[in-house]
Amino acid sequence: MSDLSRPKGPKIIAVANQKGGVGKTTTTINLAAALAESGKRVLVIDLDPQGNASTGLGIEVEDREYTTYDLLLDDVNLNSVIMPTVTPGLLIVPATVDLSSADIELISNEKRSFLLHDALRQTPMDDFNLDFILIDCPPSLNLLTVNAMIAAHSVLVPLQSEFFALEGLSQLMLTIREVRQSGNKDLRIEGVVLTMYDQRNNLSLQVEQDARDNLGDLVFQTRIPRNVRVSEAPSFAMPVLTYDTASKGAEAYRALAAEMLKKNELKVA
Ligand code: ADP
Ligand code: MG
Repeated sequence: MSDLSRPKGPKIIAVANQKGGVGKTTTTINLAAALAESGKRVLVIDLDPQGNASTGLGIEVEDREYTTYDLLLDDVNLNSVIMPTVTPGLLIVPATVDLSSADIELISNEKRSFLLHDALRQTPMDDFNLDFILIDCPPSLNLLTVNAMIAAHSVLVPLQSEFFALEGLSQLMLTIREVRQSGNKDLRIEGVVLTMYDQRNNLSLQVEQDARDNLGDLVFQTRIPRNVRVSEAPSFAMPVLTYDTASKGAEAYRALAAEMLKKNELKVA
């Protein structure tokens, strides 16, 4: 790489929104798969005790011997905690319900907000040659999500195209502002992506209009349509890009990856 302004190492993106069911996990899995498909090396960190990203990427519960919990709180060998997935170039640190106790255990830890930051910057990480790390956050603004935001270069916000979608955003933006003041002053907003979009639904159009009026260029041009293949893919333990490679959902996530890569190139230039 000839660019010296850009720090060495992978770009770290926290996929966050404190509302549940807005498409965080779906976006993490499929954006990661689309980036991997385009030749990037991508690591997904499952930071949600529900472990949906792990399941959706084909890691069965009994195979999750080491997890994000160990990455945060134990001195664990990265080679045992970082696992391959069915998608070439796409790796994952899986999660189990253990992680729900981490939030409480972290409270008594002095470096509590920086654990993920430090884990992702340890030297052996370089051996994985990663281009991107995507962090699938839990549906709350708890210490786990703060860890993700302290560790990340940017936050990607999935916004479900439904009523009240924008209401939670001010709280999220406030948290981002606090993180900037408390330990990660360069944290950026990667963008806001409209999910489960239905062109025939007035509500979707309204949410899009509101989002673009309020957030301008932060809103990705690419919208992720509501697509049944997207919701089916996790039960087949694979990204929709593999499950139904020509589906509207797969195409949309490819377009999102391309748009994001282009935006990032422009920023570097
Ligand atoms: P979160 O991680 O924010 O809680 P999920 O990614 O788990 O949200 O999505 C919530 C639900 O919506 C899941 O059942 C998922 O399969 C479904 N879903 C997400 N995106 C789409 C989409 N584009 N089309 C259809 N269903 C979707
Ligand atoms: Mg989720």
